[in-house]
Amino acid sequence: MQKTKIVKDKSLRNLNTFRLDVVASEFAVIKSEAELKQILSANLNIKKLVLGGGSNILFKDDFTGLILKNEIAGIQKIQEDNESVLLKVGGGENWHKFVKYCVQNRFYGVENLALIPGTVGASPVQNIGAYGVEAKDIIEGVYFINLATGEESFLTNQGCNFDYRDSIFKNQLKDQTFITHVLFRLSKNFTPNLSYKGISEELANQNIINPTAENIFDVVVHIRKTKLPDPKVLGNCGSFFKNPVIDQNKFKNLKQQFADMPSFPDANGTKIPAAWLIEQCGFKGQKIGKVGCHVSQPLVIVNYGGASAQEALSLVKQIQHSVKEKFDIGLHPEVNIV
Ligand code: NAP
Repeated sequence: MQKTKIVKDKSLRNLNTFRLDVVASEFAVIKSEAELKQILSANLNIKKLVLGGGSNILFKDDFTGLILKNEIAGIQKIQEDNESVLLKVGGGENWHKFVKYCVQNRFYGVENLALIPGTVGASPVQNIGAYGVEAKDIIEGVYFINLATGEESFLTNQGCNFDYRDSIFKNQLKDQTFITHVLFRLSKNFTPNLSYKGISEELANQNIINPTAENIFDVVVHIRKTKLPDPKVLGNCGSFFKNPVIDQNKFKNLKQQFADMPSFPDANGTKIPAAWLIEQCGFKGQKIGKVGCHVSQPLVIVNYGGASAQEALSLVKQIQHSVKEKFDIGLHPEVNIV
């Protein structure tokens, strides 16, 4: 095995979708467990950060430390029967390509998660989700290497403590792991998940009555392309905030004041779309300097070109302040701010 090269003062401009012009003091691309272990043993006492697609991260500044870019590839069939298939997928695989592979091979359950940016290795970290499906619904387990010890571990779905945009990898194991592979259980029997209005409306628009997985995949791609800015054109890191969940009393009080406030039942209370709250505070489509809230999805903060992290964070604070003042609701970032 060749020794993995560490690059000094690496520009991260094209490695974060918010397009911040920041630099990492040390940077290495990891393509295998062996490469990672070698690099960890030779760089024990340096701060480390794992980078996937760079689509859910905001660098406050240049990064002093070692960035490990996950490029572990491969989709391996571990087990298959009439009902389901078990796939072990490299953490560096592109998420959307993996979803496409599943749909093409008639492995079902992941089609609603088409076009989510980022890598497979990042999917369990914040339990990515869209249109009524979350990564936890199909993840059987997660393989990772401890960044401090180089030790290999495996956690089952239960052990990952998955929750709404949350997992053990954002809490007890925060900044301690490099996810090498994810194990997915996909079904061979297709049951469409049409729980979100956006999907059923678009299917109806296209006169599709009994949708196939390909139809759902295409519709999700279409909706996301229409509604969300392409980070190649307009820098962004997806939804900036989580949707807040509030308790029943607070919800009742707010509903009396704001009759048209949308809401969805949640295991922990009532979920209010953060996008609606932000829009009510007048931020939708508003541009402040080089940043702003996207015109069709205010939950996405965009970089109009040359913005700094400080500008983005100042807008984040303004939004949080306005939403707190108007609704007494705290908005919490979904994006990893480092
Ligand atoms: P939408 O349909 O306009 O609804 C707004 C919000 O209400 C969504 O964020 C969703 O919460 C919630 N919601 C809608 N229907 C629901 C239902 N039947 N049950 C429970 N909650 C419901 O949503 P949108 O903003 O266009 O987003 C559609 C989906 O794409 C959402 O699931 C959203 O999470 C996902 N998305 C993700 C990103 C990202 O970068 N991570 C960006 C945009 C959209 P949830 O977000 O909790 O599902």
